Amino acid sequence: MSDTTSQLASTAYQSALQVIEGVEPRIAGAIRSELTDQRESLKLIASENYASPAVLLTMGNWLSDKYAEGTVGHRFYAGCQNVDTVESVAAEHARELFGAEYAYAQPHSGIDANLVAFWSILAHRVETPALAEAGVKSMNDLDEDAWEVLRKKFGEQRMLGMSLDAGGHLTHGFRPNISGKMFHQRSYGTDPETQLLDYDAVAAQAREFKPLILIAGYSAYPRRVNFAKMREIADEVGATLMVDMAHFAGLVAGKVFTGDEDPVPHAHVVTTTTHKSLRGPRGGLVLATEEYAPSVDRGCPMVLGGPLSHMMAAKAVALAEARTPEFQTYAQAVADNAKALAEGFTSRGATLVTGGTDNHLVLVDVSAYGLTGRQAESALLEAGVVTNRNSVPNDPNGAWYTSGVRLGTPALTSRGFAAADFDRVAELIVDVLSQTTPAPTKSGAPGKAKHILADGVADRVRAASAEMLQTHPLYPGLEL
Ligand SMILES: *Cc1c(COP(=O)(O)O)cnc(C)c1O
Repeated sequence: MSDTTSQLASTAYQSALQVIEGVEPRIAGAIRSELTDQRESLKLIASENYASPAVLLTMGNWLSDKYAEGTVGHRFYAGCQNVDTVESVAAEHARELFGAEYAYAQPHSGIDANLVAFWSILAHRVETPALAEAGVKSMNDLDEDAWEVLRKKFGEQRMLGMSLDAGGHLTHGFRPNISGKMFHQRSYGTDPETQLLDYDAVAAQAREFKPLILIAGYSAYPRRVNFAKMREIADEVGATLMVDMAHFAGLVAGKVFTGDEDPVPHAHVVTTTTHKSLRGPRGGLVLATEEYAPSVDRGCPMVLGGPLSHMMAAKAVALAEARTPEFQTYAQAVADNAKALAEGFTSRGATLVTGGTDNHLVLVDVSAYGLTGRQAESALLEAGVVTNRNSVPNDPNGAWYTSGVRLGTPALTSRGFAAADFDRVAELIVDVLSQTTPAPTKSGAPGKAKHILADGVADRVRAASAEMLQTHPLYPGLEL
């Protein structure tokens, strides 16, 4: 952030907060203290980042006041010319950044992007052929019997996605999410020995299960995926390949993942969030081939209401930033730093899922320290290190207590942390984990929930992190 930018942003935020304070001071207070909290914590949450002041400022304005259901140039409301500009600029940046044939900027979040994708695939693969068979143009022209048959067909479709404990996401067909209620789901895991994706095993499952949708992508798998191989599998069984790159879109945008590791040339439909490694506002995007574009365009009214024009505007700004050489340098640093973090752990004897990383995240198996993920997460938080607990493959402690903690480099890399800093972060985390013991339950047995951190460790780690955080300030020069 340049000095001029920070000065301008300081003035903008000081004024904005004064205006808000006049209406609800508690909210102005929460906004102020969130900045302090973010500045003072060692944020290793793999799905979080820090958006630029330009992105943040784009979200708060009157674009929010406009209704614009429909698509660019084809709205169900009058007076949408500025929203048309916003949405087409966002889509243009997304297409050019990712080399996609088509981009849809309306989804409000990652989960919404996935819903749009699922229904688009169902529309393209199930509805369109059914209409053709009945010799009609629209669903409204189907007679009641044909409509009942089509509705039933929607409920008979299958999805094959990565299992939750191998690093998959809830929206990839799991029962607590609507995707698990929409589809018959099966999941593929990872190799029990190497903990890596086994493409032959995925192919064998796909041949047997014959999914309509093969979904690739993850939230907690510390490795790259070969999307060319996934496409081969999809083609062999007639599935649509959908890739959810919510976590690693920044590495695709920054050209760290290219060739077989870039999902866009291989998948029929790609979904993402814009706020994780991509470092934009909270939101979602769908990219698709021309073939799927017309059905993706029906995201509103299929599953979305009016688009959030102010958020599409912020996505456009973030995507413009992601097209710069600086962003490529950032993305490469995210991956290099994850390697340094992983080496920092393995050199100190920690166990990592898959033994390391080649993306932006590291999954530490904390059972080696006699802890559950929950105990590790809360001991680390006591020492000012913000992480989240996560299952490891075939986790004996289930999805609540878990046996892992997930750490990501996108946020601290945005602050300027380099490889040596991440080695130090690993050292601090190992210090905490090796000085933590499970608190006993009432019966005296070691519990799964509470932890005991040895005296003095939290202070020692906090002091060391404070020094690093001061060296790499968040939004330097931004004064409230
Ligand atoms: C984070 C994430 C999502 C959900 O994104 P939200 O914006 O929180 O709805 C979906 N898929 C994957 C793989 C994710 O990591």
